[in-house]
Amino acid sequence: MADATHHGRCQICGRRLGLSVMALIRAHYFRAMPCSGAGNPPIEKDDRFLEASIAQVDAERSACAAEIQQLRRARANWIDPRIAERVDELDAALSRLRRRLQHNRSWPLRFERQMRTQGWGTPPPPYLLAQLGASA
Ligand SMILES: [Zn+2]
Repeated sequence: MADATHHGRCQICGRRLGLSVMALIRAHYFRAMPCSGAGNPPIEKDDRFLEASIAQVDAERSACAAEIQQLRRARANWIDPRIAERVDELDAALSRLRRRLQHNRSWPLRFERQMRTQGWGTPPPPYLLAQLGASA
């Protein structure tokens, strides 16, 4: 059913796209910006880029928040509002990416429910089962 060799979902935005010859996600846009998921394997194959992105966004968010803290402590006369806006943006991106990861981790449960209620579904990929099996 899911043609994982020619199509796949982007790890970052979740869009279903055709894959390149190298079986990687093609360049595409997400919220009017080039999506960073391009050039990575689809979520049917791997979710390491999603995890790495979460860590990276989290680190940038902490850095921005720390900068605001430091400026406040130094009683700076002016704190660039763009830093606070950036923290908000990163918060939104972080919760979106974490939801995506959580959604991916619940794939085996969804599959089991789909099989029980409708008799068909998309089986979770082996890498995910291995990963969940190792952590459980
Ligand atoms: Zn994408």
